Amino acid sequence: MKRTKIIDTQDLVGKEVNLYGWINIRRDHGKLIFIDLRDRSGVVQAVFSPSDTELRETADKLRPEWVVRLKGKVKVRPEKMFNPEIPTGKVEIEPLELEVLNEAETPPFALDTDGYEIGEESRMTYRYLDLRRPRLLKNISKRHEMVLFMRNWLSGMEFWEIETPILTKSTPEGARDYVVPSRLYPSKFFALPQSPQQYKQLLMTAGVERYFQIARCFRDEDTRGDRQPEFTQLDLEMSFVTQEDILNLIEELFTSLVKNICPSKKITQSPWPRLSHREARKKYGTDKPDLRKNKKDSDELAFAWITDFPLFAKQTEDDFFHGSGSAKFAPSHHMFTAPHPDDIALLDSDPLKVRGLQYDFILNGYEVGGGSIRIHQPEIQEKIFNLIGFTKEQKKQFEHILTAFTYGAPPHGGIAPGIDRFVMILAGEPNIREIMAFPKTGDGRDLMMEAPSEVSPAQLKELHIKIVK
Ligand code: ASP
Repeated sequence: MKRTKIIDTQDLVGKEVNLYGWINIRRDHGKLIFIDLRDRSGVVQAVFSPSDTELRETADKLRPEWVVRLKGKVKVRPEKMFNPEIPTGKVEIEPLELEVLNEAETPPFALDTDGYEIGEESRMTYRYLDLRRPRLLKNISKRHEMVLFMRNWLSGMEFWEIETPILTKSTPEGARDYVVPSRLYPSKFFALPQSPQQYKQLLMTAGVERYFQIARCFRDEDTRGDRQPEFTQLDLEMSFVTQEDILNLIEELFTSLVKNICPSKKITQSPWPRLSHREARKKYGTDKPDLRKNKKDSDELAFAWITDFPLFAKQTEDDFFHGSGSAKFAPSHHMFTAPHPDDIALLDSDPLKVRGLQYDFILNGYEVGGGSIRIHQPEIQEKIFNLIGFTKEQKKQFEHILTAFTYGAPPHGGIAPGIDRFVMILAGEPNIREIMAFPKTGDGRDLMMEAPSEVSPAQLKELHIKIVK
């Protein structure tokens, strides 16, 4: 007999159903045994009466998290027993067959709470159990719906989804790289991408015109609530566009995503307000102000654009851009951002005054993502490298992109909204770990897999690596 989803039992009164799932709770009321059976769609109650001794005997043994198959008849509950808290609260299952598919140890923590009260160590060590709680499964499914919406919407706008390499060379975007030693080329390393920035620009040079990717990015930074060593962006890039085209496209995409996937949410202001970087700092003292009218209203979404960032900031000791000692300026977004055409002359006279064609997408006080119109002329790119203070050797690392631009690169630009942060805000979660299936802990470890971990001496030898303790 075919499987029925538990949520569908509410509409199947009088029918026989075949349910598969986990025991949520077993309550022994002497004469009657109640079980709540759970699958990812919901929970339903089954009642075992004393008359059927054989079924009773199995039901008696059931414990939370055992996996069972339950065949039974869907009946309306006595009215007094209606449970308005769950969609299947008006029905119950009269068991006909009960098969134990797998027993389970007692879980290390409760699964029927929202889980915030449980320590991170246990939640992450047993993440596959933690994920069983309905709150987390709901977050995972919402995330799926949002990503699917982005894919379909962009595909409808003639974007192509293209994968770019994970084993690559460093894209310096202000963070430390994760590096991977090469076995075939002793003492050489790959870097994991901080973002697909250079690849997407090279795809524009290749004539793709409209690219997107649900892209994993890797940055070896200290983790924080809304930061993880690896995270996901909706990365996109377009050719022959202005800043205006990109802002409008993203605004349309996210507005229609909210309408379709989270219709209970209210957008504070449409079209989204736009503030220059200078205005935002002056008025709110920050470049990611929270523009909600009522900060206690969990259904309010205050989207906004921050534009006209300064192209450069003063370079500090911690900047990963600095190369030669003469370096003075660090790109405030990244080194491929185009200067504002009105400010080109300032590149020579007063670089800190140059505005970039650069924008941030903010939501409820978070920076969701940023982007820019890119430099597509090799001579301006070279000029920016000089201002950052790149040496000849450092510039050589970017030869491929400078060369590419000499072969007719179209004007192009893009953006990369962070998917984790966006889903976190829409799910009303305090932390991106709540909307990722397998996040790292606050201190950057995977406790379930026990990573990072040591590798064998044989592996090290193959990789030509010696550990210095
Ligand atoms: N690669 C940039 C980032 O990760 C986004 C962009 O400029 O499109 O912030």
